[in-house]
Amino acid sequence: MDSSPQRPRREVRPTDQPPEGATHKNARPVLSFTAKRRGKAPSHLADLDGAGRKRILKDMGFPPFRADQLSRQYFAHFEADPARMSDIPAGMHEAVAHALLPRLVTKVVSLEADGGRTIKDLWRLYDGAQVESVLMRYPQRTTLCVSSQAGCGMACPFCATGQMGLTRNLSTAEIIDQVRAAHASCRDGALAGGPTSLSNVVFMGMGEPLANYKTVVGALHRLVDPAPEGFGMSARNITVSTVGLVPAIRKLAGERMPVTLAVSLHAPDDDLRDDLIPINSRWKVGELLDAARGYFLATGRRVSIEYALIKDMNDQEWRAQLLADELNRRGHGWVHVNPIPLNPTPGSIWTASTRRAQDAFVRRLREGGIATSIRDTRGSDIDGACGQLATAHAEGTRCVSLRKEKR
Ligand code: SF4
Repeated sequence: MDSSPQRPRREVRPTDQPPEGATHKNARPVLSFTAKRRGKAPSHLADLDGAGRKRILKDMGFPPFRADQLSRQYFAHFEADPARMSDIPAGMHEAVAHALLPRLVTKVVSLEADGGRTIKDLWRLYDGAQVESVLMRYPQRTTLCVSSQAGCGMACPFCATGQMGLTRNLSTAEIIDQVRAAHASCRDGALAGGPTSLSNVVFMGMGEPLANYKTVVGALHRLVDPAPEGFGMSARNITVSTVGLVPAIRKLAGERMPVTLAVSLHAPDDDLRDDLIPINSRWKVGELLDAARGYFLATGRRVSIEYALIKDMNDQEWRAQLLADELNRRGHGWVHVNPIPLNPTPGSIWTASTRRAQDAFVRRLREGGIATSIRDTRGSDIDGACGQLATAHAEGTRCVSLRKEKR
């Protein structure tokens, strides 16, 4: 039978890894909204809307119609090198490369998994900061998981990125260039199964997207705006995850962009969530679920609840029941739960739930009337969880280059 809610909790403590830049070996990551670096990435075409691009070209003495040509090359042909744009005069190449198309992301390493259907890339940014993206091919869709920050200030103790602390926010163009590169990879047949097109983007890589709000909303516009303004992707195929920045969830609901909201909940009770997700000290589970429900009401988009199943920590049946009760209390049919077996950080105390515990957890949710599906763990053999590849690469514990850098 199920264990009772009074059962003593297992110890919750951070990993034994000090955060990046720590001066003391016992240092622990702390919740932070302040980036360690303040430098801004060079301005780029993808930071601007159509009017902004035209204005820059006009100021440079070029006809504004060139803005549409450059934008079409970038967003429809996924070309970022002016020298390879046949409709742009050679005399413009250098100036345009400098002012509108500086190189923002450079591939450091690229790893394949799942028989070539998953590719994980580590990118170096202009200032040496590193971020990851993961491209995953499924039978009905191809999804890119992008990073929105270098590192993360949310300090979740089970997460490799959380141990690094926040290095800095990415610019809109640094996010969008990860997507452009993925579009090009799909078209060029980099994934097993031949050429395809990128259909979905999820903001579930490094960083807390809603802590970099303005930039992420700018990126959402570039993703959904039709060419030449943006990629023209369906908002319904875009997911923004959050660990629970309640005011930003409410703000996003007001943007009138029907993207899917994914809430990384990981515990239905404040008692455990206060330790697992430090931001819970500011916004409690009840407030977070109310905001998520509000998002559903404002957008009509069913909210995803992400729940990393951690052995003996949050995977008890009574917690599944509590989660079902909390969700049902706010209405029916507005939410979908995605339990995902934890992909552990090397050297940490955290590990994935047993298959038996996972099945029992899912069964209890479904019996409670909650739509539930186990998320697959793509790329778990290639430092798959966010931050693991960057950490491993920085520490030199893993340095496998499977393909030559290609822009
Ligand atoms: S789990 Fe997400 S929000 Fe938490 S530290 Fe990791 S990247 Fe940041």
